[in-house]
Amino acid sequence: MGTIQSINPATGVLLAEFSSADEAAVRASILRCRVAQSEWGRRSFRERGKILLQFRERIRVNLDSLAHLISEEGGKPLVESISSDLEPVMELITFFAANAARLLRREKIWLGKWSLLGRSSAVEFFPVGVVGVIAPWNYPFSIPAGQIVMALLAGNGVIFKPSEFTPLIGKKIGELFVEAGLPADLLQVVIGDGATGAAVVNAGLDRIVFTGSVPTGKKVMAAASAHLTPVVLELGGKDPMIVLKDADLDLAASAAVWGAFTNSGQVCASVERLYVDQSIAKRFTELCVEKTRGLKQGNPLDVNTDVGVMNNEPQLKKVAAQVSAAIGQGAKALIGGAAPAGKGYFYPPTILVDVAAESDVMRDETFGPVLPIASFKTEEEAIRLANDSEFGLTASIWTKDLRRGEIMARQIQAGTVMVNENVYTYALGQTPWGGPKASGLGRVHGRLGLLEFVEPRHIHINRFSRMKDLWWFSYSEARLNLLKGMVDLFFAPGIWRRLKGLAKVIVNAFRAKNL
Ligand code: NAD
Repeated sequence: MGTIQSINPATGVLLAEFSSADEAAVRASILRCRVAQSEWGRRSFRERGKILLQFRERIRVNLDSLAHLISEEGGKPLVESISSDLEPVMELITFFAANAARLLRREKIWLGKWSLLGRSSAVEFFPVGVVGVIAPWNYPFSIPAGQIVMALLAGNGVIFKPSEFTPLIGKKIGELFVEAGLPADLLQVVIGDGATGAAVVNAGLDRIVFTGSVPTGKKVMAAASAHLTPVVLELGGKDPMIVLKDADLDLAASAAVWGAFTNSGQVCASVERLYVDQSIAKRFTELCVEKTRGLKQGNPLDVNTDVGVMNNEPQLKKVAAQVSAAIGQGAKALIGGAAPAGKGYFYPPTILVDVAAESDVMRDETFGPVLPIASFKTEEEAIRLANDSEFGLTASIWTKDLRRGEIMARQIQAGTVMVNENVYTYALGQTPWGGPKASGLGRVHGRLGLLEFVEPRHIHINRFSRMKDLWWFSYSEARLNLLKGMVDLFFAPGIWRRLKGLAKVIVNAFRAKNL
């Protein structure tokens, strides 16, 4: 059994050490979870919601210490730990505790002529059973906690595998649920690295909700296929921001700087490519550089820090390599561009111009504080550039002409397209999250996300229970003509042909045997 270490990324100090859960431990936790789920799945939404509201209250009461832990182990500033990790989960709980019953209400289906023949159909939604939630380190609280809340509200048990870079936060989530009064064993936190994650996928759970990189997502999908386990994959992004010439330049520049550098750019939806109308490009770029110069980078636990530290060394190295390669290919860093020497995984907010369109910084996910700025001549070109990506998570358009913005938004291939906003809609639990292409599969959040945690079951009832169906045995010429009559009765053009069909039905109904 291996071990994993929790390290403060700003200081290098070891915070804790854990032994990784192996396959046997994962399987044992799933067995316990299944037992707990069979009772939980029968509780009402109201009962489940009450406990989840208690979880919200545990977050509120412990807000300061939780923010401290998220900033210490994760590396983002304290303000962001509250605004992007804790508050969004509280909002999500509030919405789903109040609305899950309505969103998963039994749906009656109108059957047309079959309704007249005594049939009724409805879809009801049942818990899938036990769900695996496998999480990344960039939003170590909000991503898994939100998904766990939705899975539990829908009546499931959960096996939660936090990132190996943020195990303390993962463990804390488990403790808060226990304090909230969640039944024992219903949520199992299995701590470990990729091998533990693989054990969760290989165990044949009822659903896997995976958030992480594209390469790991592909492995998860391949492994899940052995059990035909349905997967939701929330993967990477290379999200474009388009600034039109009529945009409020000061506002758009502030948005670009925040959207690219919040959480040191380690955001699946961060601004990773900026396209600005060439007529305003010079002034806009100057504004972005000026605003970036005003940012204070430092220890995330200092309340005045705007930009904290990257979470781990492999990610820091990936970002540094992408930027160096881009500079080698002719890009210019107007600010930043190289990691400072010294302790901590700090990378400075970096603005690049003259970046080759084919460079990794313009095409691959960077997942760091890097803002490459390019310009466009026409709106059509801006849309083409935005869509020229293997990803499609989010995109944003900045303009004072809201109608124009909306028309452009419809032409961009992304799961979420915002006009005069960027990045933040993950924090709106009411709205669907996820995107096409390499950004993943399925949705989390919103009703579409809640539906991923339930199994639709179609219940069909025939009230005319003493009549045999027309299509049953035994077959004969009369039966054939009866069916032909029905085709005319229901589908022929004009009343006359339909009436003839009705006559054929009546005559042959008397002739056919065994009706
Ligand atoms: P990662 O793929 O390295 O790891 C994610 C999780 O998968 C971790 O818990 C890891 O231990 C686990 N894992 C590793 N190998 C596994 C395997 N074979 N089977 C099962 N689990 C395995 O990703 P990361 O570096 O933690 O996160 C960064 C990535 O996550 C970025 O690409 C980012 O865009 C993406 N992300 C996407 C969203 C979204 O909502 N679309 C949100 C946040 C992050």
